[in-house]
Order: sequence, then structure tokens, then C-alpha cells
Amino acid sequence: MAFVHVLLVEDDASIASSLVGSLESNGFTVEHVATGQAAIDADPGDVVLLDLGLPDIDGYDVCRQIRATSAVPIIVITARGEELDRVLGLELGADDYVVKPFGFRELVARIRAVTRRATAAAAGARGDVVEAVDVIDVGPLRVDRRTHRVTLTNDREESELALTPKEFELLSFLAEDAGAVRSRTEIIEHVWDANWFGPTKTVDAHVAGLRRKLGDARWIAAVRGVGFRLETPEP
Ligand code: CA
Repeated sequence: MAFVHVLLVEDDASIASSLVGSLESNGFTVEHVATGQAAIDADPGDVVLLDLGLPDIDGYDVCRQIRATSAVPIIVITARGEELDRVLGLELGADDYVVKPFGFRELVARIRAVTRRATAAAAGARGDVVEAVDVIDVGPLRVDRRTHRVTLTNDREESELALTPKEFELLSFLAEDAGAVRSRTEIIEHVWDANWFGPTKTVDAHVAGLRRKLGDARWIAAVRGVGFRLETPEP
């Protein structure tokens, strides 16, 4: 992979300098800023590592503002484990998160995963051949894994859904076998990492986000105690 440029937003100088050192010695280029305003003003690069506890602007607002102008993958760094539902549930547009304290190898794995997906999406948008054409239709819903576009046709009007990379992966995974129930474990393994130990509530938060964007909660049915199923809502 070419150099991955990281924008690190972290006000704690000792954490920042150790992260910058580790990232650079692992082949990343890093721009470090210590405030939310500097983060909003900076070039987001290929991936943003965003500490939520910043001195000037709330990290949630920084996340939202970056996402308003850029599709760059954002990994949130938080010490507030109890607030993860807020991180993932409020459509902040973050793609992933790590909770302090976290291991460097874990962080690098997250960076690789989100940037790989973003690169594939960009290649698809340019029309490069990244994989076999893979278009899945579920009723009026079309998931195009080559271009990473999702469209919904209602009354002959086609609209494109603006999904985060995680939402896209989740919808795509459910659409692969529409009508079948996918268990939470399967979803976590496919959409997140197989070695991901976060709360399974994360899945619910992303399902909730997708339902909102699909405009009808019935698109994703919850099967109690098992998992989720994608199905076309009855008219
Ligand atoms: Ca902080």
C-alpha cells in the first residue's frame, strides 16, 4: 500500500508523540493537531484519528464537521467507553473507534481496515476494475459493491443513500442473502474484525442508522435472540 497519511487529533502531548513515533516507524505519514479547530481546518488525509476529549470543541462536533465536508474514514479515540452508543448511534459518521487504553497493533489493524475499504470505494468510483461486478437487487433496493453505491427506487424515483463505510458493509452483508437471518456473531465477524471484542450493541446502533436512511424500519427485521434479516417492506 502507498503511504497512508494520518491526521491525528489528540491534545495529550505524550500520547500524541508516542503515537506519531509508532505510526511513522510503521510507514504512515502523520500530521498531528491538538485542537478541534485545527482538525477541522487541516487536510484530513487518508484517515483521521480523533480523540473525543479536546480542549476547544467537543469531539462529537469535530467528527460531524469533518464528515460534513469529507468522506475520509474517521476512527474515534475515546476514554469514555460508556458513551460508545452515542459515538456510533448519532450518525456522527465515525467508521470505527478504539477505547483508551488500546494496543498499537489493534489501532493499526483498524486503520488498515478502514483505509482498505475507502480505497476500494474510490477505485470503484473511478471505474477501475477492483472485483467482479457485484450488484445485488433486493426489491427497490440496489447495492452495488463495485461502486459502493446504494440506491433506492420509490415511485420510479431513484435516490442514493449516503452510508458510512460500516453501514455499507453491513447492508451489503445482509443483502448477499436477503431473507436469511444473519446472526450478530456473523455480522460482527464480517463487518467488523473477527477479533473484535466490542459491545454487540454496536450492531444495533448501525442497524438503527441504516433503518433511518432506508426510510422504513421494516427493511431490517430483528429476529429476537438470533440476529437480523433484510427484507422488502410490504407496501
Ligand atoms: Ca484528550
